[in-house]
Amino acid sequence: MHEMSLAVAVVDQVETAAKARGVVGVRSIELDVGELAGVVADALAFCFELACAGTVVEGAELITRTVPGTARCAACAEDWAVGMPPRLLCPGCGAAADGLVTGRELQIREVRWADPGAPREEHRQPITEES
Ligand SMILES: [Zn+2]
Repeated sequence: MHEMSLAVAVVDQVETAAKARGVVGVRSIELDVGELAGVVADALAFCFELACAGTVVEGAELITRTVPGTARCAACAEDWAVGMPPRLLCPGCGAAADGLVTGRELQIREVRWADPGAPREEHRQPITEES
């Protein structure tokens, strides 16, 4: 995952939503970023500043929430935090994880518009990168 293309995708999506609603400013954008999504929050914040320059998003605060990685064991139904580097064997019985439950998220959680009276955008929307 490259932070610059991710930042551009976030700005594009929020800009499109702003145009659709006729709002002229964005106060803040909150992102869910999985611990295992391979995104460096500081790098993303830096790229975001560059990506939003000259757009309706310029000046918005980027809030990044890290979603911890968790896995589940199919054998004993135990959930555990996989940590970094990820531990993919069940601490209870040693079986391999069934898969990650959380930790790969990359989504826009909430957008707050600067315009008074504009509704908050609360639906979660995955970030889609252009190739
Ligand atoms: Zn287990």
